[in-house]
Amino acid sequence: MSGPLSTGGVDMRRREDVMRAVRLTHWGGPPVMTELDRPSPQGEEVLVQVEAAGLCGSDLHVIDAARGALPYRTPFTLGHEVAGRVAEHGPDATGPGIGERVVVYGPWGCGCCGNCAAGAENYCDRRSELDTSRAGTGVGLGRDGGLADFLLVPSGRLLLPVGDLAPTQAAPLSDAGLTSYHAIAGIRPALGDADGGGTCVAVIGVGGLGHLAVQILRATTSAQVLAVDVREEALALATDCGAHFGTLVRPDTAEALRRRTGGAGVDAVLDFVGTSATLGLGSSAVRPGGALALVGSGGGELMVRKPGALPPGLRISLPFWGTRTELEQVMTLARAGAVTVATERFPLSRTLDAIDALRSGKVRGRAVLIPAEGLKQS
Ligand code: NAD
Ligand code: ZN
Ligand code: ZN
Repeated sequence: MSGPLSTGGVDMRRREDVMRAVRLTHWGGPPVMTELDRPSPQGEEVLVQVEAAGLCGSDLHVIDAARGALPYRTPFTLGHEVAGRVAEHGPDATGPGIGERVVVYGPWGCGCCGNCAAGAENYCDRRSELDTSRAGTGVGLGRDGGLADFLLVPSGRLLLPVGDLAPTQAAPLSDAGLTSYHAIAGIRPALGDADGGGTCVAVIGVGGLGHLAVQILRATTSAQVLAVDVREEALALATDCGAHFGTLVRPDTAEALRRRTGGAGVDAVLDFVGTSATLGLGSSAVRPGGALALVGSGGGELMVRKPGALPPGLRISLPFWGTRTELEQVMTLARAGAVTVATERFPLSRTLDAIDALRSGKVRGRAVLIPAEGLKQS
């Protein structure tokens, strides 16, 4: 178990035995940059030297959570979008070899239930047990994450080789890309196949996840993509990513979206915000028999009732992260040039600045923290 370095007395550890880590030490934050012992992998564990770690809107929700609201124990290291190089194997480790570039598959389930065995650890059947024991939902979510120089991964099964993808691309693909890809898989029946044509999808919130969703939709469907955000810069990014139409949130946004479809309503909505306001917007813009994927963790509520105000036949999904196979698929799209993460790079030492930038809506695409940046070469 790693512990903070003592500040008094003589520290006999060598520099290579310690590492920096951005830790959530108490609910409400702010996170703290600490020095910890560099972990040593045991059993099946693998130590990864972090090359890039993305900062997600969920990190803000986690930092801001009230004590007891999430089933995690503090302190833990944040960072759930991680790419790097395999640095060290535990004696029983399998998977990618030392020095290989990898991305971390972030939802860490029990590893053996039906869903985990099928590569869908995001839907581990033992999730409620993991929650009750406060064992964490995945990397950087109750378990030590990748906003650090090194990350201890429980098993090689949670690592995928990235080949020639840059770490700054691979890291955000493991959540912003994967979650968007998985959410789109859930609404695909409403959108028809890639050459079907004639369907419309609204993307609400074009930040880290949303800008990748727009690109994945363009690459894998023929739907018209209608982007909605509260920031002009986000709409400009949506256009760069291939959206056909963009609108700021206004009182008549639902009608504006419906007008684009000739009045019937959009075939599907991807809500990357998840407040009551965006759920209200999405559900009033979607057509009967359409689909609404609630991805954002904005804590909003939508009344589901029959008879009620929702369009008949509406299919609502609550996607969480994605499967290992889908991570491979989204990386394949990126390697083919069909999906590119818009990144803003920060050295790991400036993580708190990156958090402030994300909080104040100043990030275009994804903020990515880079441990090696800004370090003095010795
Ligand atoms: P982000 O901050 O990068 O992007 C959010 C975007 O939404 C921004 O462009 C912002 O301007 C826009 N926005 C904010 N309020 C809006 C409103 N009322 N109407 C329209 N647009 C609005 O965040 P992100 O990293 O893309 O994450 C988005 C959400 O998805 C967060 O709530 C996060 O917790 C959640 N998330 C869920 C999963 C999952 O598995 N379900 C995975 C990752 C992130
Ligand atoms: Zn996330
Ligand atoms: Zn499981």
